[in-house]
Amino acid sequence: MVNTNRHPVGSQDYPRTMQEFDSWFASEAACLDFLIRLRWPDGFRCPACDNQKGWATTRGNIRCSKCQRQTSAIAGTIFEGTRKPLRTWFQAMWYVTSQKFGGSALGLKRVLGLGSYQTAWAWLHKMRRAMVRPDRDRLNGRVEVDETYVGGKEKGVHGRQTERKAIVAIAIEIHSPMGFGRVRMRQVPDVSSDSLTEFVKYAVEPGAVILTDGWTGYNDLQQEGYTHEVVLLSAKGDPAHVALPGVHRVAALLKRWLLGTHQGAVSTKHLCYYLDEFTFRFNRRSSRARGLLFYRLCQQAVQVGPSYYAQIVKPKKSLHHNIQYLRERSG
Ligand SMILES: [Zn+2]
Repeated sequence: MVNTNRHPVGSQDYPRTMQEFDSWFASEAACLDFLIRLRWPDGFRCPACDNQKGWATTRGNIRCSKCQRQTSAIAGTIFEGTRKPLRTWFQAMWYVTSQKFGGSALGLKRVLGLGSYQTAWAWLHKMRRAMVRPDRDRLNGRVEVDETYVGGKEKGVHGRQTERKAIVAIAIEIHSPMGFGRVRMRQVPDVSSDSLTEFVKYAVEPGAVILTDGWTGYNDLQQEGYTHEVVLLSAKGDPAHVALPGVHRVAALLKRWLLGTHQGAVSTKHLCYYLDEFTFRFNRRSSRARGLLFYRLCQQAVQVGPSYYAQIVKPKKSLHHNIQYLRERSG
């Protein structure tokens, strides 16, 4: 039985292996039943009469046993309006979460035999929207913060100036004596003090220790309630030493993932959703059970609202500055 009040258990709350996945989700009814239990963890309640008993129908609805009213189990989820079987969606979610580096639209199209690349691409975007909870906690403790540049090659542009590349701000918890914790990242419009301070306030709890390089864009952190420490490369004396090893590592992994899995075919206006997928996977990297990622994705898929193809393909121009994105995330 699915129980969301305690830590989910493999083979009990979620399938651990491909074989288990296949036997658990052999039919539409089984998939629907799983979603219903995730959506109403304390049991279904009819919105019309508050009755707690109902039956799943073949069309994805629950029929109240008392007033006969039908409630859609997938309205208001990422599956709303889909013409494909839920089972195909489950396979897509399994495909994306069971692989270490996720999957590309082309890969998903092939594996599921989807008719078009566009469908596969839109599905991945819908799933990405379910990968990050809007109410997630901010980072804490010791946190490294830096920016990195993602995108096409540019000649003759140096340092922090950029024309076409996207700027991604990264924050990562540093554990003592070694190791890294959770990560947060977001596309920022520039590396001004306003933008970077706003990012830190979004990503990190006040009172945390923020480690940065000597860039002046971080000079306002102290007055926002953070303890700011500047890490200087030259102070360490070792030329091979990396001043901020956490963000350096994450930036390298992010670029490798975008170039490898997605072959660099990520446009700036969609980048924030890829950052969500990267974050989802990175923050669960120590989880040995891939099925747990599947479970979390299903759980969040029934909690975030639907998004439609046109909205995904042509986000408003302001998306470049994360406005539409943030509206989605806060609503
Ligand atoms: Zn009812």
